[in-house]
Amino acid sequence: MPTRRAKIVATFGPSSAEPQTIRTLLAAGVDVVRLNLSHGDHDTHRRIVATVRAEAQAEERVVPILMDLMGPRFRLGRLPESGRTLEAGQRVTISEDPGADLPIDEPEFLDHVEPGERVLIDNGLVELLIESRAGRELSATVVEGGTVTTRKGINLPDSEIPFSISEKDRADAALAVELEAEYLGASYVGSAADVEAIRALGREQGGDIPVIAKLERQRAIQHLGEIVEAADALMVARGDLGVEVPLHQVPVLQKKIVDHGLRRGTPVIVATQMLESMMEHPRPTRAESSDVANAVFDGADALMLSGETAAGDYPIESVRTMERIICEAEEHVRERRHAGAEPQPLRPSWTSGRFVTADTVAASANFAARRLPVTRIAAFSQSGFTARLISRYRPEVEIVMFTTDAVVARQAQLIWGVTPVLLETEPGHHDEVVDSVDRTLVERGLAEPGDCLIVLMGAPIAERPLTNLMRVHLVRE
Ligand code: PGA
Ligand code: MN
Repeated sequence: MPTRRAKIVATFGPSSAEPQTIRTLLAAGVDVVRLNLSHGDHDTHRRIVATVRAEAQAEERVVPILMDLMGPRFRLGRLPESGRTLEAGQRVTISEDPGADLPIDEPEFLDHVEPGERVLIDNGLVELLIESRAGRELSATVVEGGTVTTRKGINLPDSEIPFSISEKDRADAALAVELEAEYLGASYVGSAADVEAIRALGREQGGDIPVIAKLERQRAIQHLGEIVEAADALMVARGDLGVEVPLHQVPVLQKKIVDHGLRRGTPVIVATQMLESMMEHPRPTRAESSDVANAVFDGADALMLSGETAAGDYPIESVRTMERIICEAEEHVRERRHAGAEPQPLRPSWTSGRFVTADTVAASANFAARRLPVTRIAAFSQSGFTARLISRYRPEVEIVMFTTDAVVARQAQLIWGVTPVLLETEPGHHDEVVDSVDRTLVERGLAEPGDCLIVLMGAPIAERPLTNLMRVHLVRE
């Protein structure tokens, strides 16, 4: 079976913190490790990252780390041990007073919530409607009842919440810089400016970490176009998205976000509850199995596991299951294509401007790979940008991306169909690029003499232009 193209992002937490488990998870197919900074302490994160880095080095694997910031998130204050049970129709008070029916520790909460707006608690399981305000006390009616407990998350889909960066986010960003994370996850962004604020936060801490914009608010959907321009990658964060927008819109939003990413060559991760039932069971439901396959059919670059690997009982089985479903789905995509079912999708966006040459060469590589008996596309991509451009055409053959920058190599691991390879020395001439491509692919068992390759690069190399050269090359004897 050909190599898998869609990547697996797995969140590591208590169920995946042991070195032996980490080794097994990476061997089972985890391409990108995510740490959810809403949970766990810095020392635990440090230990996990150290183990992942050591294992990646020992196995000569390219494994990026995504550190996902908590972002502006409201939570319930302290409640009695058994929680508070709310009945539909009941009136409740919300305030900073610990004696309120629902105490809130964050004062900003009370600044931004108005009568007529909804308050959703614990992933929307409990729903309140704000009726009135008296000073700093809100009165609400329970619309959907249930039992709520201390620190449960709150979503305010109707409220105008300004984006803000907390002290916790600042400290977590400093940790991400310390650990040289390849990606920073930006939660609850609503605009390009919010994405830039997270980028600036990384810089403020002395790093320059690419930002993954998590699309999980109505406001983000309204500003999707500008967020796609600003972000280095996107996440369809279906957990919060499904609370903030009507749940029946989530599947269509997933497709729209993936399409946006494909047009720009911006990687998209589909996240949350992909194999949720595997937290407690060794097998997924039929619906989950279909969900994973459908994310592949939509064209996602990467599929994410959250609780399944971080806190579930079956982390390794979850990765293996996801791996099998993706491979089967990709086989189906290939069969359909061979049957002529899917014409090459047109992906406009770089039809003008300074990237049009590179994109034209990337599109040509894809065309050539279909017409000639090509086994791989090899791209010399110093920044990873060319790899993204080729990937967005979803070629049938693997894209091997060569770079001399170890960080760029790890970042590129998120991209669909891209296998990053680190070169030790920078070639001085384009003939040397072809030589090192030959040598490296043969050494790694990725090519044999006589194989037909498409090699892409920017020439002359010393001037570092964007990709402007495509060579059809037969691997030498
Ligand atoms: P979270 O993000 O796990 O950090 O909440 C993902 C989501 O909301 O789906
Ligand atoms: Mn979220």
